Amino acid sequence: MTFPVISRRRFLAVTASACFNPRTLCAQQPPAQDFLTRARAANANNKITATPLRRNITFLGGAGGNIAVLTAKEGKLLVDSGYASCQSQLIAALAAINADPIQVLINTHWHFDHTDGNDWMHSAGATIWAHENTRYRMSSTQNIVAYKAIIPPARTGALPTILFNSYRTLSDGTNTLKLTHYEPAHTDTDLSVHFTEANVLHCGDTFWNGFYPFIDYSSGGNINGMIQATEQNLATAAADTIIIPGHGPLGDKAQLTEFHDMLVTIRDNVAKLKKEGKSLDETIAAKPTAGFDEKWGKKPDAFIGYVYQGV
Ligand SMILES: [Zn+2]
Repeated sequence: MTFPVISRRRFLAVTASACFNPRTLCAQQPPAQDFLTRARAANANNKITATPLRRNITFLGGAGGNIAVLTAKEGKLLVDSGYASCQSQLIAALAAINADPIQVLINTHWHFDHTDGNDWMHSAGATIWAHENTRYRMSSTQNIVAYKAIIPPARTGALPTILFNSYRTLSDGTNTLKLTHYEPAHTDTDLSVHFTEANVLHCGDTFWNGFYPFIDYSSGGNINGMIQATEQNLATAAADTIIIPGHGPLGDKAQLTEFHDMLVTIRDNVAKLKKEGKSLDETIAAKPTAGFDEKWGKKPDAFIGYVYQGV
């Protein structure tokens, strides 16, 4: 399909796929060099669920990060590509929608559970769009310290080739997509995709619906940026917007608001304890997430560490 650009600030075209769900990836710490291989293997048999949303948009869950699929006149547009090891299930799920090829793939950020399928989707014909920092991080070895994960550079075919660092509006005459970057939040590569006619907003990993988020400081993320990104998402969303989080079930503005309030309260609680001179262990012992753990995760220690690092 053709999506001519109808507005832009700064645009780069060049010639020339981790978030990490702590529930599935952190149970054991594998050797660093094997992290990606093991993550692929752990997700190879995932079941993909397909949920029709509004108009011509389908939500695919189970391939790693959550995926959105837009079916347009001349082909499909996808937001995020999941694990490479989920290729066969994704091909089946996409074929069940219709037989059209993938024309465009947009990455919400560089983490491999959102970009690992880039290579096969590119081979299938997709042009890949992303924040310019996504290409930068995918092009070089990355060390995700929180997971002791050394991630090697992606194959050339997996790299995004249409890059930007602010916002763009795309339209094919029927569908309008607003792509908006965030200041560093979950990483320094994040962007959102708003399908305006359908009123569906994909937030990438700036929103984790129902559990504490991972914040990747090694990739430029920080807690205050997460809060700002959530406020940006809230400003975009209306009461009836369908909100796709990077991880977790489909959400709405009320749940996004709850996520925001959780982040702010815990940030403030942790900041106060740190300002009093408490160590991380002492901060964890003071239970700054009390009242939230039942809903957002009964093992908050890692999340408290992410917050502590940024206040
Ligand atoms: Zn992520």
